[in-house]
Amino acid sequence: MNLLLPIIAVLIGFGISYFIYQKSITINLLLAFSGSFLLSVTVLEFLPDIYNSGVDSIGVYVLGGILLQIMLEYLSGGAEHGHLHLSKEKTSFPFVLFISLCIHAFLEGIPIHENDHLLYAVIIHKVPIAIIIASFLFNTNLSKFKIIIFLLVFGIMTPLGSFVQANTVLLDDIGLYLNAIVIGIFLHVSTTILFESSKDHKFNIYKFGIIVLGILLALIL
Ligand SMILES: [Zn+2]
Ligand SMILES: [Zn+2]
Repeated sequence: MNLLLPIIAVLIGFGISYFIYQKSITINLLLAFSGSFLLSVTVLEFLPDIYNSGVDSIGVYVLGGILLQIMLEYLSGGAEHGHLHLSKEKTSFPFVLFISLCIHAFLEGIPIHENDHLLYAVIIHKVPIAIIIASFLFNTNLSKFKIIIFLLVFGIMTPLGSFVQANTVLLDDIGLYLNAIVIGIFLHVSTTILFESSKDHKFNIYKFGIIVLGILLALIL
């Protein structure tokens, strides 16, 4: 079930984008909520868990995760946190964007099989991102086949990360360090979402309310 949920989240996002998506306030509110909830679960649960591991240098890996995410965003143009800068005339497969998104999605799958709240946070984070990526791709001149391949492979990367962590010994020795790196990724992505959700720093009562709601939900879970 934990492997299926991220796929379902991505499919819901694709479905929304294909059938009903209009660039609207709703997607921005969903994005703000997802960022706030992801940040809250990371700070309240994921971060303390990692620091309780007793490994002194663990904070270095958190910082490494932040740097890794910054580099991934150079490649993706910020698709992980909800915007894309790709020429609409593009007809060749966007490999750089694709690989950057897949690395991000694979890594965020690693910690979610042992923490249900984190699983929910990643799922909620994925829906608006999937909507934005899919609606963007459907608006380019890319062939339907290329788009479907892109979305399918992207969709299975997070469950694949969970699966490799849960069912193989490949990541056993480095699991803790990978989790610390993922914390850095989540900190950067979620704070960037919150930062970019307040356009021109104009106070928006709906956005502020939904951000508070994300924090409250993480607190009562
Ligand atoms: Zn951005
Ligand atoms: Zn993500």
